[in-house]
Amino acid sequence: MADGSGAAGSVSRRRWRQCFSELNLDSFLVYVANYASADEIVELKTYPVVYHRFRYDELAVRIPVGVTVDGVWHALPEVACDAPDCLRCTTGRGGFQFCWIDGRWTPEAALDLTQTRFEAAMAAQNAFPEGCLKRPRPENQVAQAFALDVAF
Ligand SMILES: [Zn+2]
Repeated sequence: MADGSGAAGSVSRRRWRQCFSELNLDSFLVYVANYASADEIVELKTYPVVYHRFRYDELAVRIPVGVTVDGVWHALPEVACDAPDCLRCTTGRGGFQFCWIDGRWTPEAALDLTQTRFEAAMAAQNAFPEGCLKRPRPENQVAQAFALDVAF
C-alpha cells in the first residue's frame, strides 16, 4: 500500500510517490473542498491516509482527516502502513503519509525531497503550483476590509 501498489490500483488516477505528506494533504483538502467537481469528489473522498504504528497507540486518539463538501464532513479512509522495515513503524514514531500525487493539488514544494522540512514549508506559502492551493478569497473580503478602514 505505502508504495502505491495494492489498493492504489482500484482507482485509475491514483499515483503514490514519496513527498512531504503534510503539504500534499493540506493542498488536497483545499482542492476537494473548493475546486473539485461533484464527480471528482466521489472519487477523492475514497483516497486513504496511511498511518504508521505509534508506540502508545492504545492511548492515543487520532484526529480523523476528512473533507467538508457542501457542509457535510466525510472522513477519509484510514489504512495501516504495511511497508516492511518502515522506520516510523518499527520505532513507534507514528505519523501519517498522504502521497497521492496529482497535478490538480500536489505542490512542487512537496515533491522536492532535497529540501529540509522547513524549506518545503516555506516554499509551500508561494502560489500554486509551487506552493499549496489556497482557499479562494471571499468575493466581498476586499470590500469589507475597505469598509473597516473607513470606519476607523
Ligand atoms: Zn510505517
